[in-house]
Amino acid sequence: MPGRLGLVLLSVSPIVIVLVAGVILLVLRSGGGGDERTPGLTAEAALVSPAGDAMGVIRFLQTAGGVLVIAEVNGLAPGGHAFIIHEVGACTPDFAAAGDHFDPTDADHGFIHGAWQGDDSGGGHGGDLPNIYAASDGSARADFFTDGVTLDTGPRHSLFDDDGSAIIVHERADTYGEGEADTGERVACGVIRRP
Ligand SMILES: [Zn+2]
Repeated sequence: MPGRLGLVLLSVSPIVIVLVAGVILLVLRSGGGGDERTPGLTAEAALVSPAGDAMGVIRFLQTAGGVLVIAEVNGLAPGGHAFIIHEVGACTPDFAAAGDHFDPTDADHGFIHGAWQGDDSGGGHGGDLPNIYAASDGSARADFFTDGVTLDTGPRHSLFDDDGSAIIVHERADTYGEGEADTGERVACGVIRRP
């Protein structure tokens, strides 16, 4: 019987080892590249107009549940403006350098698709944020909270991937609908930078 038990252990143990190794790998992955969040990390984007005039500051604060985006903008036309994080950390030579919406999950644009997580065929872009609304004096003040991006380096929705990220204020409001809404010109741009 002891010999038989040993044989059973020998035949089972490689499977156990593989399972244990798999669990360890999963733990390492979730800690090192997936949902890592470091509360307290900050970032900032100084907005400029196409002519280079200062248009305010966007501050980013990493929290345990997502990123707080604190916007203070001026010089806008009164009314709603799409307010979106773009995929490249560049506003020069012109704002086209910022590329498309930051889209770490290969999703479609807009909140109407649902959350950015999960089904890759739907969900909004990680960089999609609600519109910002300027008062009659052209100033806008808003706070947003999103888990579509992170300030940590490593996760695919990190604002600090290889080419960085920028935040753009568009001429017109986003309709949050299917496909890319026509939000007009890019009226303000700021590269998102660590302090
Ligand atoms: Zn989008």
